[in-house]
Amino acid sequence: MDQDSGCQAVDDGAQPCDDSVPDGAPVDLCRNHLIKAYLFMRAELAEVEAKTALPGMRPVSECDDRKNVVYYIRFGDRIKIGTTKDLRRRLAALPHDELLAVEPGGYDIEASRHRQFQPHRISGDWFKAHADLASHAACVREQHFGMLAEAHR
Ligand SMILES: [Zn+2]
Repeated sequence: MDQDSGCQAVDDGAQPCDDSVPDGAPVDLCRNHLIKAYLFMRAELAEVEAKTALPGMRPVSECDDRKNVVYYIRFGDRIKIGTTKDLRRRLAALPHDELLAVEPGGYDIEASRHRQFQPHRISGDWFKAHADLASHAACVREQHFGMLAEAHR
């Protein structure tokens, strides 16, 4: 290759690959080696995702008929989006100023809400009480008002 720097990948002790690097590539790798790296990381990330999904899978002995709910609580200028099967007990254990909303759903819904509000994440389940999140919680409250009322009974 005439380029200053071709693909830097070295397969099993051979010479560097030196094929041309596509424009904008984050590292000096040719298309083939980028794909190799991508496939490797995709498998790796799938494993990480499978592991982080574990909290949703409880041992059989802990299974019961109660359904998970996703709850939104505000504490100061923070909002927590969490999942529980026992909202009353969870709320009793969590410092909070206000239960904002409750919606049906388990860890999958919680995870997608966490992704949705990722830019406002402080850490773990806690997010800044950004207007986007506050209006989402208000919308959930309206949609599932019965669940909120139930929690306050
Ligand atoms: Zn290469």
